[in-house]
Amino acid sequence: MYSNSLIELDRAHLIHPVASYRGHEQQGVRVLASARGATVTDASGRQLVDGFAGLWCVNAGYGHDSIVEAAARQMRELPYATAYFGLGSEPAIRLASELAERAPGDLDHVYFTLGGSDAVDSTIRFVRYYWTARGEPRRDQFISIEMGYHGSSTVGAGLTALPAFHAGFGIPFDWQHKIPSPYPYRNPVGEDPQAVIAASLAALRAKVEEIGPERVAAFYAEPIQGSGGVIVPPRGWLKAMGDLCRELGILFIADEVITGFGRTGPLFACSEEGVVPDFITTAKGLTSGYVPMGAVFMADHVYQTIADGAGPSAVGHGYTYSAHPVSAAVGLEVLKLYENGLLENGRKAGARLMAGLEALKDHPLVGEVRGRGMLAAVELVVDKKNKTPLPAEAQAARRIFDRAWENGLVIRAFANGVLGYAPPLCCTDADIDAILERTAVTLDQTL
Ligand code: PLP
Repeated sequence: MYSNSLIELDRAHLIHPVASYRGHEQQGVRVLASARGATVTDASGRQLVDGFAGLWCVNAGYGHDSIVEAAARQMRELPYATAYFGLGSEPAIRLASELAERAPGDLDHVYFTLGGSDAVDSTIRFVRYYWTARGEPRRDQFISIEMGYHGSSTVGAGLTALPAFHAGFGIPFDWQHKIPSPYPYRNPVGEDPQAVIAASLAALRAKVEEIGPERVAAFYAEPIQGSGGVIVPPRGWLKAMGDLCRELGILFIADEVITGFGRTGPLFACSEEGVVPDFITTAKGLTSGYVPMGAVFMADHVYQTIADGAGPSAVGHGYTYSAHPVSAAVGLEVLKLYENGLLENGRKAGARLMAGLEALKDHPLVGEVRGRGMLAAVELVVDKKNKTPLPAEAQAARRIFDRAWENGLVIRAFANGVLGYAPPLCCTDADIDAILERTAVTLDQTL
């Protein structure tokens, strides 16, 4: 066991994001000490396979010397340069250009942030600026999706539709509207893909009508809803929603903070679906979690409208650490890794993971297995026929997480009894097999 003093120091001083403060005080912290490849080692020396890549972010895996070298080199040469007021650094310019080259369609302009929440937040500001510049400032209403997650910034948390991110904060989100999740397993229209797509289209149309078409600014969607429980809409859903936004004359933002950078196979899930939104938000895999960075991709027509609207005035949106040169240097190195085998390995490992999880379908607790690439979920139920979820109030998810940990596996257990998988793309066959075997043991212990 690691030292009690560390646990006490944590208890006394470190506030943990998205945790029950009282629950955490009782449980105490689990400290990770080191990691390599897809294996993490905790402070007591226990080795675990990281089936969740940190927080869906360490796509390249741990311990890449070339990433460390890229950061160190940049720190020695130029650890900081602002991008404010038209200044800049070479890595940021090069990364923006490399990314723009690979982004779908005319998403040619890149705005760097520190992570996903401020990437989403930035789009909200840019969307409002865009409509003001177009002479339609009354377009100030936003639509997103139930069970969606778009970060926890003060404004962007409004787009998030998970109750814990709203309850108790007392921040009004009356400019936010939600449509139902395209959740095939639990959709009132059933699991038929075309029916699920039609239901989402009808819901978006109806919502825009209800709000007033001249008031709606934008619609936000994750290509796969991550934090809601890895909810995978049918193929064609994203494209259909994007096309409808265009028809309705509202902006469409694809939040690829999780799905971007190889998580579902390609660099962008939008490319695979043939979708060119007005913005894409990314973070996580952009730097593989080694240093913080997010990126907003902006379509050329949006950029031109904002630029013309501002004219000689500054567009007053920025952070001290926007386009940080060390993060950009890491981003450039990680991009090389993706294209020198990492995406390819992720696709192979993802197929092995999905096949292995599918084989668990006969387990009495497994209601559904779903996923794409290296992003997957196993939804547990107490009654398969009626799809009765595990009881959230019994802390079932927490117990499964703890059990998996004891079995040497890090996964995410969502409150609704969904187990989430997002392993590093560098996983070997042995890593994937360990994830599968340890999942099976954990499920048997949960019976
Ligand atoms: N958007 C999505 C889809 C996410 O999954 C997340 C984080 O998980 C965010 C935004 C927020 O990103 P961050 O935690 O880097 O602020």
